[in-house]
Amino acid sequence: MAKTLYDIGDAPPLGEVPEKMHAWLVRQDRFGEPTQAWKQEVIDVPEIGDDEVLVYVMAAGINYNNVWAGLGVPIDVIGARQRAGEPEDFHVGGSDASGIVYKVGANVSDLSVGDEVVVHCGIWDVNAPSVVDGDDPMFDPSFRIWGYETNYGSFAQFTKVQSHQCLPRPKHLSWEASASYMLVGATAYRMLLGWEERSLREGDVALIWGGAGGLGSMAIQIAAAIGADPVAVVSSDDKAPYCEALGARGVINRRNFDHWGMLPHWKDRAGYAEWLKGVRSFGKAVWEALGEKRNPRIVFEHPGENTIPTSMFVCETGGMVVVCAGTTGYNATVDLRYLWMRQKRLQGSHFANDDQARGFNDLVLEGKVDPCMSRAFTCAELPDAHQLMYENRHPHGNMAVLIGAPEFDLGIHAEGPRTVAALAQDEPSEPEVVYLPPLQDPQQPGVSSVLVEDDTRVAALLHPGVITCAPASTVAEVAKLLVGYRIHAVVVMDDDDHAVGVVSQTDVVLARQGRGADELSSLSAAEIMTPALIHCTAETRVSEAVTDMTRRGIHRLIVTEEREGRPFPIGVISMTDIIRKLVKEPSTGNGGLVAG
Ligand code: NAP
Repeated sequence: MAKTLYDIGDAPPLGEVPEKMHAWLVRQDRFGEPTQAWKQEVIDVPEIGDDEVLVYVMAAGINYNNVWAGLGVPIDVIGARQRAGEPEDFHVGGSDASGIVYKVGANVSDLSVGDEVVVHCGIWDVNAPSVVDGDDPMFDPSFRIWGYETNYGSFAQFTKVQSHQCLPRPKHLSWEASASYMLVGATAYRMLLGWEERSLREGDVALIWGGAGGLGSMAIQIAAAIGADPVAVVSSDDKAPYCEALGARGVINRRNFDHWGMLPHWKDRAGYAEWLKGVRSFGKAVWEALGEKRNPRIVFEHPGENTIPTSMFVCETGGMVVVCAGTTGYNATVDLRYLWMRQKRLQGSHFANDDQARGFNDLVLEGKVDPCMSRAFTCAELPDAHQLMYENRHPHGNMAVLIGAPEFDLGIHAEGPRTVAALAQDEPSEPEVVYLPPLQDPQQPGVSSVLVEDDTRVAALLHPGVITCAPASTVAEVAKLLVGYRIHAVVVMDDDDHAVGVVSQTDVVLARQGRGADELSSLSAAEIMTPALIHCTAETRVSEAVTDMTRRGIHRLIVTEEREGRPFPIGVISMTDIIRKLVKEPSTGNGGLVAG
């Protein structure tokens, strides 16, 4: 007799759909870090519609979107769907899958029970007028990411998908490797090849940020597969061989440069000149990596705020900077003079349509692209895999987790047409430090500025001491400090006396959006703080501090000194302090983070 529920790894007979299934899911009352948010529960197997299929999931890919879903920010995906009329009070995530078709809807003619498939994550209303007319469905308002914006993703024994999402599974790959590549691969494919006359062509140079990451590892291979010249950017030299094995013609270590962040204001002539020096030396590094003086016709962007000014600058005349994310922030600054005079394009791009997902899958089927699956996890380790990603300790390339597959390395039914060299596996990298470095090295001679004509150091103007709070302090307590001390921000220090962020008046005001006063007051400092400390040292020249503040659009820097190998806050320097110095008035106020 058919069972109502099968254990994980115990596949029901082909085509038999039980009533219940095991699923990893998030509920609103446990939003938080992945190991807290994701729990295994038993739920009903969903019904499918006429254009849908039910896939028995063998393995699922891990992506950052379900770290966000577990955290409940920037959107509460469960609440959003309930507001749109869906009854479920849980979210089954998972936007990458390999599996076997177990049931097809009445309108589905191109798939059969038993087909082995990989699933792309683009969902749209197949009957929407623009889709029926043949327009790009990525532009239709019905577009959603399956397993993030929609429920019943791949972190369950069965997933409900639209039939057009299913593509042939590469039989030379294991179930877990098959599940690891589609979301990042198809996104990279559209970015590089989906934008008409600006698309990447044979012989073009492509600059790829995060070359050893999920998107970057796919982008290097796509560019190499069409005969372009990819140059990868990474943050440590040990990632260079990995990128070269994927086809990068050269690799640049971004840690050799320090001109990152928003553009200096164009009126800040000294700061702008300094930035130009940095970005030009980065441009030279692109030429050195290539071995010839050619600029990238395409810049493959996703870090965002920190790198966009550089991307726009080094991009070739008539070229395109194509961006799918803003991992370091969303305020992209662009010097419009270069944009219009050199006729460059800044192009947004998001996932992919059916043709692009199929185009990318064909490259994998042909062995021209390796999925770069660096680590696979058991089903029980699904929250841990997300936790690694949340803590930025995940390995190079892509990760996957077994769902129905009882063991690793199953599902390989064919010799691989592998054309990509075997890839080195490295240990996960250390998490990034929260401190943003000063934009210029105060020890370096020759740093110029015209904003103050002397050699004054921050030490001469700084207000010693800072007002601090704990990560668990409530916003009500923080507000009391801000108002009581008449300061603009409070430094958040953890139990080990490490500064972990800053809560500014702006942070409090922004956190108020969409919340009542009571809800705001009970939030913690950790929930609303800006998790980075923009700082300088007492030895920094005041002129450099001014440039740093101007470029970042802020009015004060925290002054730090080295303690146990980490910067420790000792005071504050603010624009107000500097104005007092410029007009030679005695200091009477406070620096913004210190008691007056
Ligand atoms: P990932 O595997 O973590 O790789 C991102 C890479 O970015 C890292 O390997 C890192 O490489 C680099 N990076 C980090 N901080 C940087 C900085 N300050 N400056 C320059 N490079 C920096 O993540 P991913 O899967 O490639 O995804 C990247 C972003 O794209 C995420 O925000 C993701 O949510 C988004 N995404 C969007 C779509 C879409 O359709 N819109 C699709 C997929 C992903 P180094 O430290 O070696 O430089």
